[in-house]
Amino acid sequence: MKKVLITKGKKQFVEGLNKEVMLDKPKTYLVDDFGDFHCREGKILKKDMTKKDGSKVKTNTGKEFSLFTAGFIDIYKKIKRGAQIISFKDVGAIIAYTGVDKNSKVIDAGAGSGALACFLAHICKEVTTYEIREDFIEIVKKNKELLGLTNLKIKKKDVYKGITEKNIDLITLDLPEPWKVLKAAEKSLKIGGYLVSYSPTIPQAIDFINNIHENDRFVHLKSMELIKREWEIKGRKVRPITTQNVHTGFLSFCRKIS
Ligand code: SAH
Repeated sequence: MKKVLITKGKKQFVEGLNKEVMLDKPKTYLVDDFGDFHCREGKILKKDMTKKDGSKVKTNTGKEFSLFTAGFIDIYKKIKRGAQIISFKDVGAIIAYTGVDKNSKVIDAGAGSGALACFLAHICKEVTTYEIREDFIEIVKKNKELLGLTNLKIKKKDVYKGITEKNIDLITLDLPEPWKVLKAAEKSLKIGGYLVSYSPTIPQAIDFINNIHENDRFVHLKSMELIKREWEIKGRKVRPITTQNVHTGFLSFCRKIS
């Protein structure tokens, strides 16, 4: 079982600056509870790591942390990254607009780091992710193990050459040429199933959707770019944070209709 150690962070008055500043920033660690835990703030003893959720534990230097059992997201944030992973906002939209759940069967390609595939496996019945690169497959295997997912299958296969699985509820694509998957998606998706393509650049989205327009078996529902702005809120210092990741990708949602 994995545990989370978290500090709240503290403001302190600094004479030289004549104001309160956040000297002690909030800090989070993910810990496997197999021994004493060592961090920059010192050492926490193994016996303290087994205390109940919500306990306060101290390092040998006197630094206090709150302790609780790690959830999926605590572990997910630590996954290994090879290829650029899909962002939370884009994962959220895919789940919300397709309504996938514990009964859904999903195909994902390419796997990359397996971020999207792992997230979908967390909420769906079964996910199969296709990937051509052996080095990325190794990363996905590690991430699958880290998250303890048993319903994620990793396939070393070129998805442009076909999809074997049938009666699929959702196919997610994060590929250089997603339009090359249309024929395979036709055979693999159930009627009413969703085909969602995520592309970092607009020419990819255009070519994908224009191919959908020419295909009688699919309908294009919507394409979107989601913009997220994070804000900092400290007393009356309330404003968007200075540096933001503005662009991730374009999402296109399609549905198989016949
Ligand atoms: N959505 C992933 C990232 C995908 S990156 C995540 O969230 O982690 C795109 C991946 O597609 C790369 O790893 C690349 O190797 C893979 N890929 C490219 N062409 C492919 C193909 N024809 N079949 C299967 N995988 C492919």
